[in-house]
Amino acid sequence: MGIEFKKEGNVCERCHKLDTDVGKMTHYKNHELDKLLCQDCIKEIEDYYSLKCSKCGKPAHLRGNLIEYEHEKICTICMDEIKMKKIIKEEQKEVRKNFIKSNWAKWITFGLTITGIIVALLAIGI
Ligand SMILES: [Zn+2]
Ligand SMILES: [Zn+2]
Repeated sequence: MGIEFKKEGNVCERCHKLDTDVGKMTHYKNHELDKLLCQDCIKEIEDYYSLKCSKCGKPAHLRGNLIEYEHEKICTICMDEIKMKKIIKEEQKEVRKNFIKSNWAKWITFGLTITGIIVALLAIGI
């Protein structure tokens, strides 16, 4: 029975459509695949394997899937790098902010002390 069914038409092993519906089937043997596929599926697969990370230029399938980031499609590894850099930058910003804050406190204390001295001197009546 199964053999008879095959005679009627080939089925794409990916989308399961019949060649009578989607056209010619091709035995696809690229990218470690060995399947009977329709032209649409082959195109999708070819597109997938030709995708490259817009940051490092490496084929996407070698670096996990692509992620949309600031209108660019980048790989997960580049994404991780960006995330890491962001965290480091945030930390540096935080350190700088704290440094400025602590300096401010110092300057205000210093200013108040000077003002206090001046006021005291004025009060004495120089
Ligand atoms: Zn298909
Ligand atoms: Zn990348």
